[in-house]
Amino acid sequence: MNQSLQSRQSVLNQIEQACQRVQRDPATVQLLAVSKTHPSTSLREMYAVGQRCFGENYLQEALEKIEELQDLEIEWHFIGHVQRNKTKHLADKFDWVHGVDRLIIAERLSSQRSDQQKPLNLCLQVNIDGQDSKDGCQPEEVAELVQRISQLPNLRLRGLMVIPAPENHAAFAEAKALFEQVKAQHVQPQDWDTLSMGMSADLDAAIAAGSTMVRVGTALFGAREVLKKE
Ligand SMILES: *Cc1c(COP(=O)(O)O)cnc(C)c1O
Repeated sequence: MNQSLQSRQSVLNQIEQACQRVQRDPATVQLLAVSKTHPSTSLREMYAVGQRCFGENYLQEALEKIEELQDLEIEWHFIGHVQRNKTKHLADKFDWVHGVDRLIIAERLSSQRSDQQKPLNLCLQVNIDGQDSKDGCQPEEVAELVQRISQLPNLRLRGLMVIPAPENHAAFAEAKALFEQVKAQHVQPQDWDTLSMGMSADLDAAIAAGSTMVRVGTALFGAREVLKKE
């Protein structure tokens, strides 16, 4: 059996089993293939076995792949840190941006997204476990940011994204609680349906806590070589 097919099937099985353990419908958990550092040929193979959503972290690398894979109907997710001066390309080339953590970033994406395109899907990144080094807004800021971002045109605010420290599975439950709090708000965003959390090492725990989108790299594509920094 082809390697891409095999590894994708094994991740899908893992998702299904994690769902069964907590009585969730596997259709409520989407698999985002995190392809940073892997060549576009690897993405093409993963596409050929059925994968449609791909997540990239580094803008320059992503733009090259988007260009090389234009002939495919890929849904592109940007999951890296969003720099203020790079929003134009994100607004232009991506379907989703997960790492929004300030109003100014959302405002720029909103004004740079063309009216001709479908609205850009956003997740608000939250620094759920108070890591010093991490991007993301503070949990206390979520309610107000959601309020303000949901009023911007050309965007669809879909939910929250978190990257807790390894092994900190309690943080997934906190993210879920925050996600539900927004849902219960008096004026809730229209399309609030996404909780982006869980990676290769912790997707079971994330699914048990309520993740609707797991971002999986290593388990699909194998180990990455050195980490690149943009
Ligand atoms: C790299 C990355 C992933 C995938 O991590 P794996 O451990 O390889 O599955 C998921 N989310 C983000 C934000 C990443 O940067």
